[in-house]
Amino acid sequence: EEQELATLEQKCKELQTYAKEVELKQFAQLPLSKKTAEGLAKANFVEMTDVQRASLPFSLSGKDVLGAAKTGSGKTLAFLIPMLETLYRAKWTQMDGVGALVISPTRELALQIFEVLKKVGKMHTFSAGLLIGGKDLKSEQERVNKMNILVCTPGRLLQHMDQTPDFNCDALQMLILDEADRVLDLGFERDLNAIVANLPRDRQTLLFSATQTKSVRDLARLSLKDPEYVAVHSQA
Ligand code: ADP
Ligand code: MG
Repeated sequence: EEQELATLEQKCKELQTYAKEVELKQFAQLPLSKKTAEGLAKANFVEMTDVQRASLPFSLSGKDVLGAAKTGSGKTLAFLIPMLETLYRAKWTQMDGVGALVISPTRELALQIFEVLKKVGKMHTFSAGLLIGGKDLKSEQERVNKMNILVCTPGRLLQHMDQTPDFNCDALQMLILDEADRVLDLGFERDLNAIVANLPRDRQTLLFSATQTKSVRDLARLSLKDPEYVAVHSQA
């Protein structure tokens, strides 16, 4: 495993250059952990879609990414794969707390993301929780501190930040906004600002949506660092 980690680290550093030289088509061409590779294979994911092919060389090498691609183009795996890989390469364990947050505008979409995560992340040992409200807060509060990955809606996440004793995201490695244009919309502005105020600035941030978010103000709010813009118009 030590050997695997050293190799992955090195190959991810070289990935942006490699992607320019070799046409990436399949997940198997990427430097992924055996656990993620196996999760993808078992779910029959072999060929990458365009947005996955265009964004993964950046996200896997640690860059902030703003990805735009239409509905149905495979954005979920474009952010779940680098999320799993980042935590794996950091040897994240249950003791390390919340390492990644995925924020979605609706319960339904959060649930869908969670289902995909259970499938492709099956071989990993991370704990993952779905925080979408509508369930008993108390029972969630007992478990939320043990979670490594949280898939959530803004309101419920903020509720835990405000009300759950000892809950924090101080060690967060990756923040992901799915349907980012909707999450960054006016309706969520106060919640999102309050959430981001509780997150470390030194982290990787991935934003995916159907339309390109280029508002300088939004990018400043999220303290993105030299983000890579990935826009895909066709589908694989
Ligand atoms: P988006 O978020 O861009 O609307 P999704 O991530 O929900 O798209 O994916 C849309 C559909 O495409 C899902 O059914 C998903 O299983 C499928 N899909 C995603 N990536 C791949 C892939 N690489 N190969 C085959 N099917 C894929
Ligand atoms: Mg989606």
